[in-house]
Amino acid sequence: MNFLDYWDPLIERMPKPDLIKLQERKFRKLLAYVKDHSKFYRRKFKEAKINLDDIKSLDDLQKLPFTIKKDFRDNYPIGMLCIPNNQVIRYHASSGTTGKRTIVGYTRNDIHEWSTSLARGLTSLGVGRGDIIQNSYGYGLFTGGLGFHYGAEMVGATTLPTGAGMTERQLELMQDLGTTVFACTPSYFMHIAEVARKLGIDFGRDTKLKIGLFGAEPWSEDMRKRIEEATRIDAYDVFGTSELNGPLFMECKFKNGIHIWADQYIVEIIDPDTGESVSEGKKGELVVTTISKEAMPLIRYRIGDITYVDSEDCECGRTHPRLMRILGRADDMLIIRGINVFPGQIESVLMKVPELGENYQLIIDREHELDEMTILVEVAEKFAKEKKSRLFKVKQNVINDLRNVLNLSVEVKLEKPGNLPRSLGKATRVIDKRKL
Ligand code: ADP
Ligand code: ZN
Repeated sequence: MNFLDYWDPLIERMPKPDLIKLQERKFRKLLAYVKDHSKFYRRKFKEAKINLDDIKSLDDLQKLPFTIKKDFRDNYPIGMLCIPNNQVIRYHASSGTTGKRTIVGYTRNDIHEWSTSLARGLTSLGVGRGDIIQNSYGYGLFTGGLGFHYGAEMVGATTLPTGAGMTERQLELMQDLGTTVFACTPSYFMHIAEVARKLGIDFGRDTKLKIGLFGAEPWSEDMRKRIEEATRIDAYDVFGTSELNGPLFMECKFKNGIHIWADQYIVEIIDPDTGESVSEGKKGELVVTTISKEAMPLIRYRIGDITYVDSEDCECGRTHPRLMRILGRADDMLIIRGINVFPGQIESVLMKVPELGENYQLIIDREHELDEMTILVEVAEKFAKEKKSRLFKVKQNVINDLRNVLNLSVEVKLEKPGNLPRSLGKATRVIDKRKL
């Protein structure tokens, strides 16, 4: 790889010992900063009986208490700000998937660091001047639209700020302006591909699209295969949360984990039950400390997503750690008759079956005190007219495969193509009637 493949080669390729020194320095600065500017952390540390003078190095990080989503809610709207209100240049709000929305404020420098993080990722995929990035993440309070927009502008690409929705118009603009990169949720992109098929648009023949940047919701490796086969583009995973900023990190060309920038964020993986660190490569809950943020820095923020980290240098030459696929939030995990199930495991089984489409929903209910899960999944368009007996066999096979993978018997119902709802943003895959 040559230096043009990096946005900031000195940082991105920094030898690990130097990177750790840099983290150490920024971590100490962060502690001094929150001590001076954060009422919230002063209170939190006092409650936890932490004397910041005892926290001398990164090794002491684990002595500090966690920050959790509830802290945002308890301090709603802006009790966690470390700066005067008139230095906030923007607010965003989370989508509120798991409860009351949280508000995040940014300084000018926060926006710059955020855009830089995306600029590094885009450059790692060779995206820059000359590219046309169609940004279909929602604009507005959601961090996806504007966040991505600023990153795209930083690398000098042309942004086409379509936002989500109006799928036919998306396709028309994609063709008319020669979009090369498309950014949205993976579920929305599958919908776009479906509409394209109906309109007779072939991505390879009729568009210049080569890269998809997909995130904001969990998706499986098998979904990636589906997308790439159906549209002949390269699909990359993008991750972020509004509390950290918004969309921040992405895979490089090697599609081997999402690069986290260690000069901006310190990553830990913990056992969600005990709060203890787990060893490298083990799955656990993602915890992040921000070492560049000004408006709302976070110390040991429990994001709630389950993943694992690989700290080996990547083939691309970057030395920063990589998040391997995000399996979903700890609270996305379903407990069905005492068995832990991640929706992603089910998606993987379904996407391996060519007769099935990409749209599915998990319905969970309780009958006679027993949890029941029914999986609604559409038949792929190509197989819509298939004989009933063949589809019955497909269904039985899926039930068997799911039983092997999950250790659980579930119902499967095949739906006609188009029967299940489509989403413009984050798809609703699970309907848990036990909670209604
Ligand atoms: P909300 O918490 O209200 O959904 P956000 O819009 O900040 O607000 O969503 C961030 C969350 O979205 C992450 O914590 C994670 O659960 C999910 N997410 C984002 N990107 C990905 C991804 N690439 N893979 C899996 N999950 C993702
Ligand atoms: Zn890489």
